Amino acid sequence: MTTSSSIPTVKLLIDGEFIESTTQDWRDVVNPATQEVLARVPFATAEEIDRAVASGQKAFKTWRKTPIGARARIFLKYQQLIRENMKELAAILTAEQGKTLADAEGDVFRGLEVVEHAAGIGNLQLGELANNVAAGVDTYTLLQPLGVCAGITPFNFPAMIPLWMFPMAIATGNTFVLKPSEQDPMVTMRLCELALEAGVPPGVLNVVHGGPDVVNAICDHPDIKAVSFVGSTKVGTHVYNRASQAGKRVQCMMGAKNHAIVLPDAHKEQTLNNLAGAAFGAAGQRCMALSVVVLVGEAQAWIPDLVAKAQTLKVNAGVEAGTDVGPLVSCAALDRVSGLIERGVREGAKLELDGRNPSVSGYEKGNFVGPTIFSGVTREMSIYQEEIFGPVLCVMAAATMDEAIALINANPNGNGTAIFTRSGAAARHFQEEIDVGQVGINVPIPVPVPMFSFTGSRASKLGDLGPYGKQVVQFYTQTKTITERWFDENEVGGPVNTTINL
Ligand code: NAD
Repeated sequence: MTTSSSIPTVKLLIDGEFIESTTQDWRDVVNPATQEVLARVPFATAEEIDRAVASGQKAFKTWRKTPIGARARIFLKYQQLIRENMKELAAILTAEQGKTLADAEGDVFRGLEVVEHAAGIGNLQLGELANNVAAGVDTYTLLQPLGVCAGITPFNFPAMIPLWMFPMAIATGNTFVLKPSEQDPMVTMRLCELALEAGVPPGVLNVVHGGPDVVNAICDHPDIKAVSFVGSTKVGTHVYNRASQAGKRVQCMMGAKNHAIVLPDAHKEQTLNNLAGAAFGAAGQRCMALSVVVLVGEAQAWIPDLVAKAQTLKVNAGVEAGTDVGPLVSCAALDRVSGLIERGVREGAKLELDGRNPSVSGYEKGNFVGPTIFSGVTREMSIYQEEIFGPVLCVMAAATMDEAIALINANPNGNGTAIFTRSGAAARHFQEEIDVGQVGINVPIPVPVPMFSFTGSRASKLGDLGPYGKQVVQFYTQTKTITERWFDENEVGGPVNTTINL
């Protein structure tokens, strides 16, 4: 960790003020292409977490009663501010996370779409009414906010994923405590500044930084009502169990091993382009990255073409024009991915393309790994069993589509998948039989737009309801069911009725 006082510090956001933490525990935020220390991020103290939650609780008293139009208008303003600051946001994101500037704009844009959705909250947070459920009796529901909600986010989408969470939580009338990834908190903080500028009142949005201790404090805190988590399966499972034990609502979107099936009738050039983009874009650090391709039948002859396509991608710093593959987020990530490639070789997979130690002129210290392709991968190998989270594609073979479907359904993860084919019947069979949350048909691999919700099967998701879309309105609200009868002035009361009735 660096101690120089010339390095800026990342602030906490409590009760509408950006404040310096009093902690002794700090980490560096590092540019992954250069190793330059960009900022220092505090691991908040227990007292600071309590203050953030207390500020959310205080603000909830008035925020929950703020008219729906007033809440919606803040998000109309917020989406405009994000658009106006798009270039700056993308530049901050690329500096601390590594992805290309174009991809960083995509990261912000996919979050911006959720902000636009939050601006339409008036049409989303609607109850139901049934007239005359008994004579003179109506029943209706209210979707009321829960209170202080919290979000814990990963490093790979530091704009999009915080924006999956706090806009919808706040638009539905809750207040929020966000714990961004400690690896790249700067763009998240800029987004929070813009949220305040758009009119989010003091205490409605709070931010604390930190690692496991802060996450555990959020899970345990008696005044936090719901926790949204996005990150690895190991940490998400821990968060789900711990926060559920403490009586909270919890939704956890977690790890992935996304397979694509390629049938021999697929459009070859389009398919290869899509496979290379989805496997190696963002250096494979997407929960929707394509990490396994299953070539069915004669499509197995396409491996040399896939390798040739991957070789056209340019590895360089995200700020350089024409870059396709930026660096991995940290030196630790570089060591882990390099170690897994080494294990793949040792365990007998065929290294068709070795992306280790690429030469990147001007960025010799960067955490770069170029596109890497293994063929002959089997289910037992570490490169198949683990989520590599780097630009490494495992190629497997299947004789039939059903064999490929069985392979995918047997994998513990169920985040995303895709099929490439010209056959509507094959695609429909795939869509019916596959047990995976996000399914692409000639689309690799789709993050749903905010009219829908992100989802996941098996080890990729815990909790019933997904982030954003209709589901999150249910997640961030408590349904209250009201049954009412109004007596007429002249109505005569009958005898006391002790049977179950309305
Ligand atoms: P991570 O699980 O290491 O970290 C996520 C959050 O948990 C961070 O805020 C981190 O500070 C915190 N954390 C880390 N270790 C912890 C611990 N031991 N106890 C408590 N909290 C802890 O994930 P990451 O490396 O930042 O992100 C990559 C992972 O996220 C991948 O597995 C990826 O598939 C997954 N992801 C999933 C989705 C999805 O929607 N399913 C989206 C993006 C990323």
